[in-house]
Amino acid sequence: MARYTGPVCRLCRREGEKLFLKGSRCLTPKCSFERRSYPPGQHGRETQFRRGRASDYLLQLREKQKARRIYGVMERQFRNYFRRSTQQVGLTGTNLLVHLECRLDNVVYRLGMASSRAQARQLVQHGHFMLNGRKTNVPSALVSVGDQISIRPESLQRPYFKEMRQDYDDRQIPRWLTANTGDLVGSVLHLPARDDIDVPLNEQLIVEYYSR
Ligand code: SF4
Repeated sequence: MARYTGPVCRLCRREGEKLFLKGSRCLTPKCSFERRSYPPGQHGRETQFRRGRASDYLLQLREKQKARRIYGVMERQFRNYFRRSTQQVGLTGTNLLVHLECRLDNVVYRLGMASSRAQARQLVQHGHFMLNGRKTNVPSALVSVGDQISIRPESLQRPYFKEMRQDYDDRQIPRWLTANTGDLVGSVLHLPARDDIDVPLNEQLIVEYYSR
């Protein structure tokens, strides 16, 4: 499955806010956005001051792009999530966010087993995780209520996971998930409600973008 492989900090600068795509680096003075908080590109600094009032379309587009970038999803897959969300009962925007939250790579990140969604995606792709006891290397696999996410016994012997085990108790885990800190097994208690999803997104703008 395709993924964005260009410079990541550029995406934060394009969206005009920190998207926290690089894990712990985002919390240090090395963060690019802290040093250059204007849009990327040759004329980025000038356009920052030249822009007038943003059109409704621009606001909707930027919100959709921001969501894609936060969750690391390409356009076609994002559109598919939106299409499925419209077919479900409930608010389309909330359904879309629930789809994104239930991706396996996001769940690994939410369980505190990776410092960013990008790292979680890589760990899943490298086959370190099991979903309900079966090895899976598909970051876009969707979890459902009662699913168990665990680390393969072979992978637990690796330094990364050994280190993680030592201070795993300190992790902040959202209330729709639970984790057994001893053997590093996470479970889905229930699907997240809108209040459980702490991403800075206005999902209504995304719905409006696709409903044009
Ligand atoms: Fe964004 Fe993190 Fe890069 Fe800062 S360090 S610009 S928050 S990805």
